[in-house]
Amino acid sequence: MGRSIGVLATRYLWAGIVDGDQLGDVKIYPDPAQPQLDLKTVPAGDIIQIIRGQIRELAKSGPVESVGAGFPGVIRCGVIQESPNLGQLKGLRVAEELRAALASDGIDVPVTAINDADALAAGIAATHQTLDTVVRVWYLGDGIGYGRHPHNDGVWEAGHMVVTLDPKERFCGCGGIGHLEGIMGHRAMRLRFLDMEPEELFAEARHGDARAADFCKLWHRALSAGAANSIHLDGPGRFYIAGPNAEFVDLNLLGGYLQDMVKMSPLQGSYFEIVHDSHDLAIIGAATASRAR
Ligand SMILES: [Zn+2]
Repeated sequence: MGRSIGVLATRYLWAGIVDGDQLGDVKIYPDPAQPQLDLKTVPAGDIIQIIRGQIRELAKSGPVESVGAGFPGVIRCGVIQESPNLGQLKGLRVAEELRAALASDGIDVPVTAINDADALAAGIAATHQTLDTVVRVWYLGDGIGYGRHPHNDGVWEAGHMVVTLDPKERFCGCGGIGHLEGIMGHRAMRLRFLDMEPEELFAEARHGDARAADFCKLWHRALSAGAANSIHLDGPGRFYIAGPNAEFVDLNLLGGYLQDMVKMSPLQGSYFEIVHDSHDLAIIGAATASRAR
C-alpha cells in the first residue's frame, strides 16, 4: 500500500496525505477560520495553482507515488466535461494540467481525476470492512451526487435521473424536468420554498405542517425511486447516504418506500446507511483510486 495524495473540491479545496487507507495531514482552502469564499468565483487556473501549492506543502513530509483528485460533475479521461456546481471548470483538462504543474515543482507522479461521489464510494470501499462487491453512495448537498465503486466507465449522473413525469418539477440545477436533484437538492428546495430554508422545512414537517410534511414524503420517495432505479439496473445492495442533508433522512421512511418500489424476489435485500466524515472518506478514495489505475 502506497502513500498518495487525495484532493477534493466541494465548498472547499481539500488535499490530504493518504498512507495505505489512513488519512494524515490535510490542507483546506480557504482556511475555515477565514471568511467564506464561494469557489464558483475562483477561476479554474487559480484552482489548479491552489491545489498545486497544497500538494507541494504535503509532499515536503516524504515521497508520494500518485495524486487523485475528486471533482463534482462529469469527468472522463482526466477532463471535466460538465460541472453544474463549479461551472468555470467545464472543459478543464484537470489531470493533465495538475500533473504538468506538479512536475515543474519536481513532483513527477501520475495524476487521475474522478467524480467526487465516486471518490467517496472508493473511500467507503477502502475503509469499511464490507463484503459487498458494489458500493453505491448518494451525496445530498446543493446537488445530488451518485458514486459507485468499482467505477464503471460511463456518465452515471444518477442525480439527474427522472423520478417524476410531472412537468412542473423544474427545479434541477441542470434545467432538466422531473430530475431527482430537482426535488432533493438543497438549491432546488430553496427555489421551491422561497419562504422557508430546508432546515425549517423539515422541522415544520415534524411539527405537523401539511405542506412541509407532504414535501418531506416526496423528498424521501424521490431518493427511494433513485435507489429503486439503480437496483433494477445494477442489482440490490447497500446504499450509503452522505453529505450535509443526510441529517434530514429518515431511514425507516426510505426503506418503506423502497419496498413498495422493488418487488422482484432476486432484487430484495437492499438497505440504506448514513455515513459521516464524508470529506475524509472522499479524500482517501481519491488517493486510493489514483493507485489502482
Ligand atoms: Zn438535472
